[in-house]
Amino acid sequence: MMRIGHGFDVHRFTEGRPLILGGVEIPHHQGLLAHSDGDVLIHALCDALLGAAGLGDIGSYFPDSDAEFAGIDSRILLRRVMALLKERQYAISNADLTLVAQVPRLAPHIDAMKACLAGDMEIPEARIGIKATTTEGLGFSGRKEGIAAYAVVLLNE
Ligand code: MG
Repeated sequence: MMRIGHGFDVHRFTEGRPLILGGVEIPHHQGLLAHSDGDVLIHALCDALLGAAGLGDIGSYFPDSDAEFAGIDSRILLRRVMALLKERQYAISNADLTLVAQVPRLAPHIDAMKACLAGDMEIPEARIGIKATTTEGLGFSGRKEGIAAYAVVLLNE
């Protein structure tokens, strides 16, 4: 049986933090505000994976009220989500991810993100799609207030 999952996340820009997307630090004068490292792409991906498996959402496993997760590398969260899927013998068919950001330009970093995520999910890079788009200046993303991410995954059970 195939199981589809969808995830969505948003974080706002703030001063004084590194910008981490898909496990990659991207040169920019602002980072994303969050209890964790603010990796909005990995958060959307985790929610898609958990959703496909019927396991709830990232907030129920890694609550932002828990000091254990303060500033945590979101790749650790992704690996923990993968362990939950493995226990239940789910295998990833593919993942398709979209980043929505007016700034910075993300295209040069897509390959590095793919390599990171493929490593953490233990699947070939060819099974991961990552796209980046602007919103032509419209909305919160267009006003450079933050970054959104969407994720869709297909699991085989
Ligand atoms: Mg988040």
